[in-house]
Amino acid sequence: MKKKVNSYIIPFTLLKNGEHSYLFSIEKELFQDNNYDEIHDCQLKAHITFTKNSAILNVNFHVYGTVNVTCDRCGDDFDMEINLDKKLLVKTDSIIHSEEDDMISLGKDEVDFDIAPYIYQYIVLSLPMQRIHPEDKDGVRHCNPEVLKKLKNLEVKESNEEQYIINTNKKIIHFKEDHLNN
Ligand SMILES: [Zn+2]
Repeated sequence: MKKKVNSYIIPFTLLKNGEHSYLFSIEKELFQDNNYDEIHDCQLKAHITFTKNSAILNVNFHVYGTVNVTCDRCGDDFDMEINLDKKLLVKTDSIIHSEEDDMISLGKDEVDFDIAPYIYQYIVLSLPMQRIHPEDKDGVRHCNPEVLKKLKNLEVKESNEEQYIINTNKKIIHFKEDHLNN
């Protein structure tokens, strides 16, 4: 059996009343175990805080750090910043386990709770559709310059070809007009 590298378990029902705070280091295995290969590596922390004074806990997730992803513009990998806050309601006095949008009810035989699926989901859903090297303070993107040069050459070639087609079409139109006028 594969050894679990890191666990993200909080024993909600066993905890005393009062404030609680947990700091987890998120390992890249969280993504690999879910077969999510768009995050290659990560430097992430999840800070979980809540106050227990009733059977409904308002749990705050603060996830921050970086994830290593591929740039959609130049194809190089880069570290993208993550900084997100989420809230999850955890009900600890239910009889059966149930889950809906931002609320989970723990069944009576559940003494602890694995928050890994939530952390995973929050991070993956926070990624933008398009991932591009960010701009630095001078407004410069650190994309691979070699790749950008090749892309630029390709663009020039394409626009030359387009211009050729436009010119050819113009000639054809002129030719037709000349014939119609005669
Ligand atoms: Zn790039």
